[in-house]
Amino acid sequence: MATFETQSYYRNYIDGRFVDGGAGRLVVDNPGTGKPLAEQAIADARDVDAAVAAARRCHASGVLSGMRPVERGRMVRAMGDYLLAHIDEIAQLLTLEAGKPLWESVMEIEGAARYFEYYGNQAETLEGRSIPLGDSYYDFTTYEPRGVSAQIIPWNYPLEMTARGMAAALTTGNTVVIKSPELDPLSHYYYALAAEAAGFPEGAINILCGHGHEAGAALSAHRDIDQVVFTGSVPTGIAIATAAAQNVVPCVLELGGKSAAIVHADADLDNLLDSVRWGIYFNAGQVCSAMSRLLVHRDIHDRVLEAVVALAQSLSVGPGIERPEFGANMGAMISDGQRARAATLLAEAQSEGATIASGGEALDRDGYFLAPTILSGVERSMTVAQTEIFGPALSVIAFDSEQEAIEIANDSPYGLVGGVFTQDVDRAMRMAQSVNAGQIFINEWFAGGVETPFGGFKKSGYGREKGREALMNYVQTKNIGIRIG
Ligand code: NAD
Repeated sequence: MATFETQSYYRNYIDGRFVDGGAGRLVVDNPGTGKPLAEQAIADARDVDAAVAAARRCHASGVLSGMRPVERGRMVRAMGDYLLAHIDEIAQLLTLEAGKPLWESVMEIEGAARYFEYYGNQAETLEGRSIPLGDSYYDFTTYEPRGVSAQIIPWNYPLEMTARGMAAALTTGNTVVIKSPELDPLSHYYYALAAEAAGFPEGAINILCGHGHEAGAALSAHRDIDQVVFTGSVPTGIAIATAAAQNVVPCVLELGGKSAAIVHADADLDNLLDSVRWGIYFNAGQVCSAMSRLLVHRDIHDRVLEAVVALAQSLSVGPGIERPEFGANMGAMISDGQRARAATLLAEAQSEGATIASGGEALDRDGYFLAPTILSGVERSMTVAQTEIFGPALSVIAFDSEQEAIEIANDSPYGLVGGVFTQDVDRAMRMAQSVNAGQIFINEWFAGGVETPFGGFKKSGYGREKGREALMNYVQTKNIGIRIG
């Protein structure tokens, strides 16, 4: 992999042009060193106005919405092809700004490209239907794009989260205004390059970084957007849904999680450990669908605890850029603030009676590293069992019966995903029916793909992203009835 030079300054992309930000510049840190990496233009409300106006003009021109879907689909797919053609440099930039191991950045970019492939391929599949009303009528439904799709992106998978919403929005003929995350906005620069390479018209894709309370709030409350797609925390989701309600525009919310894996005494333990490794240490646990609670049958509790502690201790933790190969390693957390928040929750867990079986401390080196952590003796009522840590910390909780496991799993304000580990298919299906979550993984955490619908029950949000379900977020249904004379 050839090393590349980071630019010293990255600008926003509005109406087909790279522009400075009305709110100045922000210094983006490298979480692997804690040192400044580059500057990013920061948008103000006027920049948001300009981006929304450009997206509106492009939409109103009909250039995207009136295009034959196969052509639009090809352009969407070309976005992904661009990412793959430049994956070496994008992965380095993503790792430097987000802290994740280089191989995880490569996976993220491949995942982003996969959204463009998948949704590009769906462009031609969105068909209306004809509704029988007797001989005197001919009636049919069609799907029209909503118009301007405003999308507000979190920092944990900046490229993949943007690809998820942008690909589905473009393929259905919308234009987009993306608000990239303040902590790692730099690699979004490549989306602007990809838009140009794919031949999208000016104004179809606008990308700006700005503070949540300023550019984010201005975008989500803008009078001329037609929908808001948000991924992030619950409090921000509530603010955005409130703004959307005041504008009477629909909103998709993908919020947090406190997801539980339920491990029965007959589970295959090697297989389980593989899932724990991905489930809680991938992206240093900064994953909304992380396996943050491990509910273990008391008969195998001690054996499983010993094994997950050994797993946590086997990981090599350090700068992502030095970790190019897939393996037992983990990078930095995104920021000192996120690490401090996780450390506070771990300290609180101890004061409530939980035990730190492994890790729990910041590494004694530059950068925002937190040791892979295992908490044992966690009770369902503890703060740590109810609150999303959003870091590399797994809470192990013992249970005695299937019914008790379901009650603990469902005893959370969230309901994003859940998992069951057992060799008994009847039990697996009973549990899958009983766990209140939008996606259930049986015998493999993260089983699924861009094809499978994803989204939460309860405080994890509403609406579904991924899969064909997500296309419906980006269209409105029109019915046309014809009286036959
Ligand atoms: P956050 O809510 O602080 O920020 C997310 C985005 O919202 C950022 O771009 C931010 O600038 C913007 N924002 C902040 N305040 C805003 C406001 N008042 N109006 C409009 N926009 C505003 O979340 P975060 O810290 O970036 O991400 C971590 C959280 O996101 C976690 O809780 C995690 O579970 C959740 N998350 C969920 C998913 C999912 O798909 N369900 C995916 C990733 C992250």
